[in-house]
Parts: sequence; structure tokens; C-alpha cells
Amino acid sequence: MNTVLLENNEKNIVFAAGLIKNGHVVGIPTETVYGLGADALNEDAVRMIFSAKGRPADNPLIVHLADFSQAIEYTSYIPQLAYKLAERFCPGALTMILPKNDRIPLVTSGGLDTVGIRVPSHHIMHNIIEISGCPIAAPSANISGLPSPTCAEHVMRDMDGRISAVIDGGASEFGVESTVISFDNENTARILRPGAVTREMLLEICDNVIIDPAILNELAEGSVASSPGMKYKHYSPKADVIMVESSFEDFVKLVSENNGENTWSLIFNGDKKNFPYKYMTYGADSSEQAHYIFQRLRELDDIGAEKVYVRSPSTDGVGLAVYNRLIRASGFEVIRL
Ligand code: AMP
Ligand code: MG
Repeated sequence: MNTVLLENNEKNIVFAAGLIKNGHVVGIPTETVYGLGADALNEDAVRMIFSAKGRPADNPLIVHLADFSQAIEYTSYIPQLAYKLAERFCPGALTMILPKNDRIPLVTSGGLDTVGIRVPSHHIMHNIIEISGCPIAAPSANISGLPSPTCAEHVMRDMDGRISAVIDGGASEFGVESTVISFDNENTARILRPGAVTREMLLEICDNVIIDPAILNELAEGSVASSPGMKYKHYSPKADVIMVESSFEDFVKLVSENNGENTWSLIFNGDKKNFPYKYMTYGADSSEQAHYIFQRLRELDDIGAEKVYVRSPSTDGVGLAVYNRLIRASGFEVIRL
């Protein structure tokens, strides 16, 4: 299959919407990361997403809508709390897990009786949903297990020859995927995957916000994941990634004692003037770290890094999302000093 890279203009947005309507898979920019979009109601098109990514069939796809009012067409029940959250965070980087109705095929929901609903704010994704008239199923546009793509070039690298087109919308604004929540009851949201909509932001609307234990810790053997994505190794470059929770001084000492030819460190911007070993920086605060983390993981592969020591980020605000992606990239290998 020939994959065309489309520049961002009105004609190409209409063309991409036509492709989606006709059952094709297209790489589409969103404010979180690039998505691999297809008509969520077209089982064959959805199957092509799974095969292009090599994604396990039990890992459900998020369905993207132009407006939250359309959620009623695809779900069997919407709690009041979901409407309140939608008022504040839709459009935006929040995915809500709701009971699905029969219109959503089981291939899309990974066999579950629920569906994740999101209303993206990015104008390209929004316009493609509107013009195609389709709810769009879209996981991150990477090969399963690799870091998520935050620019069109990343998508082309992973998907060239596997999908019909990619629209180039420049760098993703947030750089990490949406916050995924489910509802424990009418007042309580449970974060299944942290993202740009933070726990602190959700607490402005919800009485309780639970952070699912699987966000920070490895799932215990035999336990059932609240979200299938929690089961899989994720976001991993080829290098062995090791998270280090320590002071900067202890970090430098650790690297000095374990430094090899292809050992790299991923450090904060402020660290670099005192760091004598090979390094990349990934930002000075949590939003910058979210923006750069996946790009850096891909660059470390390009450069041939075999071992990467990472300065562990703060878990406040969007930092929790960065920490969650890194701890999964490391396969839960953490050194605490
Ligand atoms: P991605 O599509 O790559 O952004 O990943 C979507 C994430 O949302 C995965 O971790 C999925 O397991 C999770 N997810 C999607 N739909 C559901 C659902 N119905 N129930 C629980 N988790 C979901
Ligand atoms: Mg993904």
C-alpha cells in the first residue's frame, strides 16, 4: 500500500475525511498525540487499524466524536458526572469509559461492553469527524509497544506502507495521550491512564478521584486490569530504560559507576551544565516533559543508545502522565537512592 503524506490544507482535510468514509485508515494529528483513525462503525476498517499497529485484539480503541452530545448515540447510559465533566473538558484530552450500545462493534471495543469516548479539540481531527460524518476510532499511530508519535514523521516511520495517508499537522501540543477515566459511582472518577487533564483538574468537578493502582505499579500476577492497555509493555524504545529516583548528585554518581559506550542519560534542562556524560534533556517542567518525552525516546533509539538512565519526573499535575509512560517504558525497572 502506498501511504501519502498530506500537507495541512482544506482540500486535504476533505480528502482524508473521504478516505475515512470509504473505509480507509488515516494518520491524523490531535492535541494529544497522532492517532490512527478509521470509521468506528466499520468493522473491516477497524480491523485494519489493529493489523497496521500489531495491536492485541483485546485492547479497545477510543471513539472520537465532534461533540459530546453525540455520545448518547453510541452508549446505553451516561452518568450526570460525565455530562458535568464534558462541559468542562470536551473538547479536550479526556476519555470517558461508558457502557456501549449495539452500534459500537465488539472489534472496536476489544470485546468489552464499554466504550471510551473522547471529543478532540484539534481542528484537523474535529473537521475530519464532522466532514466524514463518522465516529472515528483512533489509537495512537505507533506500532504497538513503541513510543507514541508526536509528529507526522514519526507516523510515517511506523506506518509507511500500512495505511492510506497521514496528515501533517505539525508537533502535537500535549505530547502524551488523553486521560482515561471510568466511573466508580455518581461522584467518583477513576483514572485508568493519566494525561493532560490532571487529577487536580478533575477534582474541580468530581467529589472523588481515584488513581488506579496500576498507573504507578506493575499489575500483580493474576489480577484483572481495569483497562486492557495496562497489561501490555508500552512506549518502549529498544534501549534498556532505567528510572532513577534520586538527588542529582546521586544520579551523577550512579551514572559514573555504570557508564558504558552506549549509555545515555535523560535529564532535566537545569541539570545539563553539571553533567559530564552523554545526555539528552527532556524539559524543565512537567508540561515540557510531556511534550518531549516520546520524541526523546525515539531519538535515543536513533542514536543507538543501549542503556538509558532517566531522572524520574515529579508526579504532580501532568507529571503523573510522564512518570506513568516512563515507568512502563522501563518495564518497571526503578532505582531508588
Ligand atoms: P491508545 O488507543 O493507544 O491511546 O490507548 C487507549 C487506551 O485506553 C488503552 O490503554 C486502552 O486499554 C484504554 N481503553 C480504551 N477503551 C477502553 C475501555 N472501554 N475500557 C477500559 N480501557 C479502555
Ligand atoms: Mg497507544
